[in-house]
Amino acid sequence: MSLFQKIIYLIFLITISFEFENRKLTEIENLEIENIFDSMISSPSNPLNIILQTSNISDKEKLCPLCKKTIVEIRETIIKKYGYEGALKFFISLCNLGLDADVCESAIRGYGPTFFNSLSKLIINENKFCSTINLCPSSEKKINVDEYARNLLKSKPDKKKEKIQNKNTIKMLQLTDVHFDLYYKENASAYCTKLLCCRDPPTPHAKILSGKYGFPGKCDTNKNLFESFLDYSYNLKPDFIIWTGDNAPHDVWLGSQEHVYNSTIILKDMIDMKYKGEIPVYPILGNHEKYPNDEFGENESELLEKMADIYKSYLSDEAYETFKKYGYYTMMHKNTNLRIIALNCLYCDTFNFNLLVNQKGAKNQFKWLEETLLLAEKNNEYVYILDHIPLNANFYLTECAKRMIALLDRFDYIVRGYFGGHTHIDDINPVKNYFEPHNVININYVAPSFTPYPRVLPSFRLYLIDDETYLVKDYEQYRLNLTKANIEKVANWELSHYGSKIFNVSNLSEMTKMTQRKVDGEFIIKRFGDSEVGYSKVNNKNDIKEAQCSIDSVNFSDWMKCAHPTLDINYNHIFTLLNTMSGEWKEDDS
Ligand SMILES: [Zn+2]
Ligand SMILES: [Zn+2]
Repeated sequence: MSLFQKIIYLIFLITISFEFENRKLTEIENLEIENIFDSMISSPSNPLNIILQTSNISDKEKLCPLCKKTIVEIRETIIKKYGYEGALKFFISLCNLGLDADVCESAIRGYGPTFFNSLSKLIINENKFCSTINLCPSSEKKINVDEYARNLLKSKPDKKKEKIQNKNTIKMLQLTDVHFDLYYKENASAYCTKLLCCRDPPTPHAKILSGKYGFPGKCDTNKNLFESFLDYSYNLKPDFIIWTGDNAPHDVWLGSQEHVYNSTIILKDMIDMKYKGEIPVYPILGNHEKYPNDEFGENESELLEKMADIYKSYLSDEAYETFKKYGYYTMMHKNTNLRIIALNCLYCDTFNFNLLVNQKGAKNQFKWLEETLLLAEKNNEYVYILDHIPLNANFYLTECAKRMIALLDRFDYIVRGYFGGHTHIDDINPVKNYFEPHNVININYVAPSFTPYPRVLPSFRLYLIDDETYLVKDYEQYRLNLTKANIEKVANWELSHYGSKIFNVSNLSEMTKMTQRKVDGEFIIKRFGDSEVGYSKVNNKNDIKEAQCSIDSVNFSDWMKCAHPTLDINYNHIFTLLNTMSGEWKEDDS
């Protein structure tokens, strides 16, 4: 365990379980905290220092009592005495051991309040916390995921997917990550130091301003852009739409739940005005449908009821009732044997701190998913699964990913498509047999975002589907050159490429063969190059490695082992830590 990793662990150790008193520190108190910190770091017998010095994480005998002692000590000396502000200051000092001061300051101050609130409710004592991060033995009974997969796969039927019939084609449009910004302004500052720009009037020296259709930078979707898409896509005559989440803008520091509803209502109204209910639309929740983002708790009835009501006209009665309770649903695609299964990504969202000690929601969703797939199998149906976050993304918990792989393996011959977004990148990810990790069986399609944030071209996909087998034949990817559209004052959407051309296959159901071979750098550059979403280009060794690993890995933990085998300074280690803390599912959740 490196010093950096230990520091990250310690930040978590310290940020636990206390109701903070919210007040400003006096100058004297500030100095006192600095002194306490210095003495903790310099005294060789201090538990904090011993943990920092200990090289072997598996040395539990030594580390367990130290972990507990550290928490108690920090609770008594720092938090009780100095409150929330004191705790923040302490974490910042600790973080400064490993990272730049400004990064620590803004990261800990920015995410602090949500983070502390979530954690303070969850982890209430040192015994529980220290066993959760594997520094102390645990008395909790864990559910072994390999065993789950082994049992599940026992009943896997010996059936294969049919070949594409190549008769009629139906078209499915995927719209994802719109991030609609109600407050977007034309001729505003396109560059700013905040997380979202194109809102404030330009400074006198500002050279680059936001345009009529948006800006390919830290700016979200505006009304003109979305309307131009609706006009254009309507003429492509899609048979149905999957709308895979993230409707609210990236103004995370001043957003609200109300804001999320408003963005969703406006988008839905615009879609309905154009399509007039002529075709089915299947929406799902993204991690931005919750404010603060990702922090979906145990009781979210208000959010679920509100979102279910907004989407009501798209859902069957049964789907509406399920959505209202859990945020997921299933319904049949009218007059076909295609079943849509729409999942709630927030139950498996690594950044949802509520999941660190309680996976009840995820457990329920997977139980329901398994039952729904069994039902589909019994009824000879085909299935499309919609889930906002891709399986191998940093935001998707590895424990969930493993279960999903087990289910996709067991029901391989009926699952005809698996679609997501979230990364804002044009992508495909492999799904492999659970126990044969070289055997690709399906593809997790990851469409690029509609929003140009953080610097991509607005894009959407139109999948071409065999109407008998529901296998994906190909996809057409469309994009808008924003810079050109803003200059010409007209939005000329264009077909950017076919999926089959990028991957050099005659139809996409053959992709399973293609992704089995190791993909070389040149192929990745081609894939992420000019024919892609545009501005985001892969041009350094690290990006190429990460992209290669994304093709080779089925979950985030595998991806980290592949892309970052050493403990380099990389923000993805935070996700590794969250995965570790969340750990294996336990039999009884508190
Ligand atoms: Zn998004
Ligand atoms: Zn997202």
